Amino acid sequence: MHTVNNPSLPKIFGDIGRCIYCDNSEYDNELTNEHIVPKGIGGKFILPKSSCKNCAKITSQIEQITLRGIFYDLRKQQGLISNKRKNQHVDYIESTDFDNYKKERIDIQNYPAVLISYVFDTEPGMLLKTNGDGPLEARFVFCGPINQRAEELLKKRGSKWLGSTIKAEYGQFALMLMKIAHSYAVAVKGTSAFDSFLPKLILRKDTNISKYVGKGVGLTGKSTEMHRLSIRIENQLLVVGIRLFAKFGAPDYSVVVGRCV
Ligand SMILES: [Zn+2]
Repeated sequence: MHTVNNPSLPKIFGDIGRCIYCDNSEYDNELTNEHIVPKGIGGKFILPKSSCKNCAKITSQIEQITLRGIFYDLRKQQGLISNKRKNQHVDYIESTDFDNYKKERIDIQNYPAVLISYVFDTEPGMLLKTNGDGPLEARFVFCGPINQRAEELLKKRGSKWLGSTIKAEYGQFALMLMKIAHSYAVAVKGTSAFDSFLPKLILRKDTNISKYVGKGVGLTGKSTEMHRLSIRIENQLLVVGIRLFAKFGAPDYSVVVGRCV
């Protein structure tokens, strides 16, 4: 079975009524709605009443590392950074060194951006015969440029480097993938269809990430959808496929979310 969904289109799943991370249902009126794919990258799938405030704080911190890091320039160019004035223009500073820079006001569409993401070298350990649980290995990948201006700048500089400072935080990126995969599996399958592996990792009570997160089935090329999610069963394991920014040719990932019951 293989379902594909486009989380960039609005969809509200059924109420959960308890926290999908710590299982707390005591403060029902304090449960918050979960954006399955972060709102900050345009995710519109919502799982209502499914995260307590404590867990929402933890998952939000996980997401912010990636959203303010490797995805920042692309979010800016796509108009995904909250801007009270809804400004369609942004300041762009082009500098060659500290004393030599020019600042100009440009149309947001022209903001030069490259999509930067990570590629994992192996599939999740649980999907391998070795059931490997070594360290998670990842590399940066550049899937841009997103527009002509970015392309021209890259040519001029002779590099793939543009924009903000990039921090290598693929551990946090992997945690964000787990959060997306877990909430999506609960949304599609319900809480009783599988024994979930991921909440304890998301809440940092286990650190063996490479068993559960890794490279995907190898989708390449551009998609018409901004993001893509899919779900499948492999050897009784429930596996979520994630491809964020599929539209720009980004890599895909597999996340083992639990064992089917
Ligand atoms: Zn919770």
